[in-house]
Amino acid sequence: MTDFKAIRIDKNDHGHHADYVVMHEGDLMEGDVDVDVAFSAINYKDGLAVTGKAPVVRRFPMIPGVDLAGRVTRSAHPEFAPGDMVVATACGLGEAHYGGFSQRARLSGDWLAKLPPPLTPARAMAVGTAGLTAMFCIIALERHGARPSDGLAAVTGAAGGVGSFAVALLAKAGWRVAAVTGRGAEAEYFTRLGATEIIGRDEFDAPGRPLQKQRFAVAVDTVGGVTLANLLAQIRIDGAVAACGNVGGMELKANLAPFILRGVSLLGVESVRPRIGLRRAAWTRIAQGLDPALIDAMSEIIPFDAALDRARSIVEGKIRGRIVVDMGLNLPARDAG
Ligand code: NDP
Repeated sequence: MTDFKAIRIDKNDHGHHADYVVMHEGDLMEGDVDVDVAFSAINYKDGLAVTGKAPVVRRFPMIPGVDLAGRVTRSAHPEFAPGDMVVATACGLGEAHYGGFSQRARLSGDWLAKLPPPLTPARAMAVGTAGLTAMFCIIALERHGARPSDGLAAVTGAAGGVGSFAVALLAKAGWRVAAVTGRGAEAEYFTRLGATEIIGRDEFDAPGRPLQKQRFAVAVDTVGGVTLANLLAQIRIDGAVAACGNVGGMELKANLAPFILRGVSLLGVESVRPRIGLRRAAWTRIAQGLDPALIDAMSEIIPFDAALDRARSIVEGKIRGRIVVDMGLNLPARDAG
């Protein structure tokens, strides 16, 4: 395959524009591994990139897509050989380096992991940056010393990609989990993921008192803003919030009281840097811990032609779970592969 299809974002005097284009191998950026991309996935950040709603793209033109999985076709990296099935998430993909919304990728082998068994490429993309970030949040809470016996765990933005995986992974680790969501009507979905309670997100929407009733031992927060301030005010003594997202705002106007009167900790989580050891450990835990049928229940597969529209709509908070993009390599999506 020399010519291939990609989504490209251009920014020039005429503005910011994303569209499908045909590209050639010579257009690719530097890298020691070439990959035929079989599946990608749509993350909130990809929505910001294609719409230009936030400056996540650091150079133009750019191929968005922070996640990709596929087959190695060329490698000058000692750990990979042609035919290997691999996965890459974040590491600057779709921001500073051409990303996964492309049928072909050239990237650093240091950003790649071999496909973690028993995950197929499509299921690895159903997990993707969202699942990995959720796992990083749980690892951060565990490093803090939190244990399921401490009490209830809350997850905000629970119907989203990160939120859905946070609910499922916390439940799998033995936590009782409260899903904080604007989609309380989808009770069946949250119960299937393992949530024991559903709480309306409107309870966290308005600024509240600095110290509120202690409801949660820990929380994974994907929303930020006022929601995070309220969450901090409802964490029990010595509890912690792993904060990774900002769909509700980047600003945090919080009071010190939870920190200095209840010993609450705010743990920042990012999944962008390679840290391949941590990534592989997280992949192994996810791959071995989550039932494939549950991963399928959290994800929908769409053709590449539909990816641009869906990426635009993720910033409106309208997507449930994960959207996996079939790049047209004809690998089976669900069972083999
Ligand atoms: P999604 O769009 O899939 O999910 C976000 C969810 O948040 C929505 O489904 C909705 O859930 C809820 N939501 C949306 N808008 C609002 C709002 N205005 N107020 C309150 N809740 C809202 O996004 P992702 O799961 O992909 O990402 C979530 C966040 O995590 C993003 O900010 C993203 O940038 C960040 N992120 C950070 C990473 C890192 O490295 N730190 C890595 C990956 C993601 P519901 O309907 O249940 O209320």
